[in-house]
Amino acid sequence: MVNSKHSRAIQLISNIARFSVNFLFPSACPLCGAAVSVDGELCADCWTAFNWISRPMCDKCGYPFPANLDLGSHPLCPNCMAGGCALDLIRSACVYDDASRAAVLPFKHAGRIKNSAFMSRAMIWALRDTDLSPDIVIPVPLAWRRMFHRGYNQATLLARPIARAYGVPLDTASIHRKYRPDMGHKNAAQRAENIHGVFTITRPDKIAGRRILLVDDVMTTGATFSELNRVLRRAGATAVYGVTFCRVARAI
Ligand SMILES: [Zn+2]
Ligand SMILES: [Zn+2]
Repeated sequence: MVNSKHSRAIQLISNIARFSVNFLFPSACPLCGAAVSVDGELCADCWTAFNWISRPMCDKCGYPFPANLDLGSHPLCPNCMAGGCALDLIRSACVYDDASRAAVLPFKHAGRIKNSAFMSRAMIWALRDTDLSPDIVIPVPLAWRRMFHRGYNQATLLARPIARAYGVPLDTASIHRKYRPDMGHKNAAQRAENIHGVFTITRPDKIAGRRILLVDDVMTTGATFSELNRVLRRAGATAVYGVTFCRVARAI
């Protein structure tokens, strides 16, 4: 009897404590569950685990340079200097590493869509000091077969708040992607070959004369963006930009 009263009291106190915590901190960090003050935001510990990209970076493709390099106000990486980036501008919020992989993989493959809020916010932040004025935002399309298995296109989830931030339409219907087996662990040339010809512009009237911002979760070699850039330009796009949550940043 005493024990039962005692445990009920403990239960009550713990309920009150939980209620108070939820009241004061109604939101949890999407990665570790710690209490945070803004819904969908990362806690400080998780935030600092990421390698966020800031200046100095390549002015065109956003490749991060070592922090101690002074390269002037509009530095270019060797790839962009050699004309290797066909897009007008690319930005990524962070480097692809253990921390970003741990956020992206469950988001992409395990239905963990609540990660999209902080990811898209970081992408909007990564675009803050560019003067882009896109007419439409297009998430990199998934082949229908993948979409069917996954139930959602992770790039669309990221793109929606970005389109809202620019106050422009989100377009998920103007590009069709053919199914091709996975590109995993291929080199740049093989990736470029694998992606060649998979995209078709289905509504050229929506593309001609438009400045287009492409959105994806990860940039590996840039082959996907390059191929999209090729078909979009052929359809009359006047500018093509890209933004991703993270990017592979190999030493150059
Ligand atoms: Zn956390
Ligand atoms: Zn560059």
